[in-house]
Amino acid sequence: MDHRLLEIIACPVCNGKLYFRQEKQGLICKADRLAFPLRDGIPVLLENEARTLDAEDSHP
Ligand SMILES: [Zn+2]
Repeated sequence: MDHRLLEIIACPVCNGKLYFRQEKQGLICKADRLAFPLRDGIPVLLENEARTLDAEDSHP
C-alpha cells in the first residue's frame, strides 16, 4: 500500500487519521474503532463497508 496515500486520506466518519494495519489488511480509525477494508490495494472508505473493531483490536 502506498504510504503517501495514507497521508491524504481520512476517516469518512470523523475526518481523523487512519492507520494501516498489515495484519488486518485494512485501515483503522482508532477514534471510531472502525476498520476499513482494502480492495485491490484501494481503501474502501465507506462507513457501511467498515468493520467494527473488537476491544482487543483497539489496543495495538
Ligand atoms: Zn473516524
